[in-house]
Amino acid sequence: KSKVLQKINSVKGMKDLFGEELFKHQYLSQIFRKLCIFYNYEEIATPLVEHIQIFNRSLGETSDIVSKEMYNFTDQGDDHLVLRPEGTAALARAYISNNFKQKLINKYFYIGSMFRRERPQSGRLRQFNQFGLEFFGVRNIMSDLEVILVADKFLSEVGIRDNIRLELNSLGNKESREKYVKSLTEFFIKKKNHLSEESLRRLDKNPLRILDSKNSEDLQIIKECPKINSFFDKESRDFFDGITTGLNQLGIKFELNPSLVRGLDYYNHTAFEYKTFEEKSQNTILAGGRYDSLVKMLGGDESTGVGWAAGIERIALNLVSKSKEKLKISIFSNSPHFDFDVMNIIKNLKPIENLQINFMNSGNFKKKLSRANKLDSFACIILAEDEWKQKQLIWKDLINNSQETFHLEKIEEFLNYKLYKK
Ligand code: ATP
Ligand code: MG
Repeated sequence: KSKVLQKINSVKGMKDLFGEELFKHQYLSQIFRKLCIFYNYEEIATPLVEHIQIFNRSLGETSDIVSKEMYNFTDQGDDHLVLRPEGTAALARAYISNNFKQKLINKYFYIGSMFRRERPQSGRLRQFNQFGLEFFGVRNIMSDLEVILVADKFLSEVGIRDNIRLELNSLGNKESREKYVKSLTEFFIKKKNHLSEESLRRLDKNPLRILDSKNSEDLQIIKECPKINSFFDKESRDFFDGITTGLNQLGIKFELNPSLVRGLDYYNHTAFEYKTFEEKSQNTILAGGRYDSLVKMLGGDESTGVGWAAGIERIALNLVSKSKEKLKISIFSNSPHFDFDVMNIIKNLKPIENLQINFMNSGNFKKKLSRANKLDSFACIILAEDEWKQKQLIWKDLINNSQETFHLEKIEEFLNYKLYKK
């Protein structure tokens, strides 16, 4: 075996985030956080690891996540744990664990990494980032409309609302859905020979999920299957009518998609997805719905909820460059004897927004100066032996090649003035 170390890589589907990509994530999170706080949602950070039952019990045995995507492991204490694959069930768990039901308002948002072992491709990773929000405890169309409103507002604020469409459906209540599933099953049994293997498995366990298939032959069949709205009872129909009327009232554009079912068992009534116009399976950037039985499934009291989650990577793919170059200056002395004086100067300096200060500690004076230029510094602060006797520093403007001195005591004022003029 070769003694040379193999180049070491990150785990497949898990990326180092840096540069423009990281900047986009931070930009998106910042706008999302600001908006949520404005609308009185409270931030919550749940652990990255949860008991496996949290997801097994709520997402459904046949969901993509539970059937094949969860990173699960048994720890040294024989606890069966998973890296969280999604936020909603974890938040419902937190709602129960912390007795949030007592609170007057139960609106939460989160930002963080999720883990799913799927086939990595553009917009599909094994560790990815989501932000999302959940509104617990109010079973009223106004809550559904509010969470959609925040989503719409967010997508407008980051400038991509016009490039995506909102698709809407209702899964109805339990009674309507049961009738629908029965008719759907009969329909798909007749088409058995043309369904994908995956859909056949779903036909056995959860036929509704066939509508979620990404297989192109399945999609042809799905086009002709019965639609859920013909099975709505009065409650289901009224709720859905309330949502569509409300969206029209709010001027939020949407399209009905009768085969939108969402991949998880806990949803009922409202289901929605924001999608780009690209024809690929990773075109959903934000998705959510109502989940009135989730809290109960996890062992809590009856408690309703509605919310959504968005994939930060997928939104970032649709974002034009957002990074703004920071202004850079370099600081150094003309002799290594004064390096500690320079370090003390930057130690005492209060950070200034939009300014980056780059301390250079090696090379001769000429080299430092040329590196400062290459680094795109717009100016240098030079500590030169003679001037330093009076605690004076040299300001060298690299853009118009001018030079002046200023007193150390005035450094902050001086820098602010120079930045103000930029
Ligand atoms: P898909 O149908 O694309 O697999 P999903 O239904 O599994 O999506 P959700 O569980 O609803 O996705 O997650 C909400 C959002 O999170 C998605 O709309 C997407 O933007 C993002 N997302 C989901 N899985 C991934 C992933 N593996 N990598 C990156 N983003 C993801
Ligand atoms: Mg998925």
